Amino acid sequence: MSLRTTAKRLAHKFGSLPALLRDCLRDTLAARTRSAAETRRTAIHEAGHAGLMIALGLSLVWVSIIPDVRGGTLGQAYCLEDYATAADLRTRNAIYLQYAMVYYAGAEAVRQLIPTDPDPDAGAASDEQYADEVIRHRIGGDARSIELLFSLAKRRCALLVEYYQPEIQALAGALEAELILSAKNARKVFKRSLAGRAVRPLTFKSDFTLH
Ligand SMILES: [Zn+2]
Repeated sequence: MSLRTTAKRLAHKFGSLPALLRDCLRDTLAARTRSAAETRRTAIHEAGHAGLMIALGLSLVWVSIIPDVRGGTLGQAYCLEDYATAADLRTRNAIYLQYAMVYYAGAEAVRQLIPTDPDPDAGAASDEQYADEVIRHRIGGDARSIELLFSLAKRRCALLVEYYQPEIQALAGALEAELILSAKNARKVFKRSLAGRAVRPLTFKSDFTLH
């Protein structure tokens, strides 16, 4: 690479740093200045997503309640695309259905764990869209099959969130304290909670539609 090209690349790279830092500071400030109730709600919502990813064995990467002011999100649970490495169509469709459960889990966790919340689905429009996308377009099928899959995903999501309420609470508490958790730390929090109440994981492993 010529000196001129190197200089250009460095200028480009470091030229964007102040903007990145500014975004980062603004997002962290937004996280620190919201009300305790808003922080709690966001933590429960994201812990719902992350808790189900862990429960279902999906590849959670990290979960955060740092808002993305530019992107308009309050938090995020980030997962690798497990379906991309599925060995066959049935496995891939089972993973898509699990994704739909995970998408519904944010609002469901708020519904179950903050019963006073007037609108648990508020802020979950994109989650609904993603669930719609995986069921309607990735799995697909005739209208009745699709309706069945929607109700199955919602029902399974509600059961899983109910079963893992203590783990979701524990994850939410850790998120409130740390703002962001790596997959390793999130799993540690989840497992510690589960071990503390000596119950078996609930994964629907005997269901052929899922495994
Ligand atoms: Zn969500």
